[in-house]
Amino acid sequence: MMLKPALLAGLVFSAILPSACFAGDATFRVLAFYSTNVEFDHVEFAEQAIRFYTEAARKDHFEFDTTTRWDDLEAKHLSQYQVVLWLNDFPHTQAQRDAFQQYMSHGGAWLGFHVAAYNDRDTKWPWFVDFLGGTVFYGNNWPPLPAKLVVDDPAHPVTHHLPTRFTAPANEWYIWKPSPRLNKDVKVLVTLDAANYPLGFKDTLTAGDLPVVWTNTKYKMIYMNMGHGDKIFTSSVQNRLFEDALLWLTRGD
Ligand code: ZN
Repeated sequence: MMLKPALLAGLVFSAILPSACFAGDATFRVLAFYSTNVEFDHVEFAEQAIRFYTEAARKDHFEFDTTTRWDDLEAKHLSQYQVVLWLNDFPHTQAQRDAFQQYMSHGGAWLGFHVAAYNDRDTKWPWFVDFLGGTVFYGNNWPPLPAKLVVDDPAHPVTHHLPTRFTAPANEWYIWKPSPRLNKDVKVLVTLDAANYPLGFKDTLTAGDLPVVWTNTKYKMIYMNMGHGDKIFTSSVQNRLFEDALLWLTRGD
């Protein structure tokens, strides 16, 4: 396991600050970025995600901070955190992008939801496309709908508490091209069951490989397709996935 700068920073801080600054015996720190000036359904998701991870932090003993200041994507600030979450948005400036790239290239961890990974020919951030597994947003269903999901690897620490098949609550599902599964460095953990097709009414997904949760094994990262609207946290099964994904990112395995 790499010695992470965030861990070092945590040790320094705990030496000079009263222990009351930390939640009990917190061993790692997580920072969630989100925006409030984006699509309303994405704001709703972020607010519920913050409640969910705040509760998980109490239970699993970690520090959970949130910010709407994307300029906090900056080396000194990031050095205090072992995991960064993007709940409903992505960096907007070159400086923010560069800081994130440096952070991930030096042992940082990332959990991104739904629109956080959005990219197209106008976003012009080739490093990020590669980081995702060389994949570009291609399409979505509308309106948001529940979907049957299949767990690709039931032994992985992120998915080992899940049944091999479960129904996820209503979400706007994104399909990506080429499928990240075609990248040898990508490990797909959960996939949309093809039995869902056609999925949608106004916008309809009709076919194609649609990975829902994956990791690019060159980094400590997970992308989750979920993240649209106020139904996402209504499944205890899926909630377990969200919790285990974050916990896995904090570990070295
Ligand atoms: Zn959405």
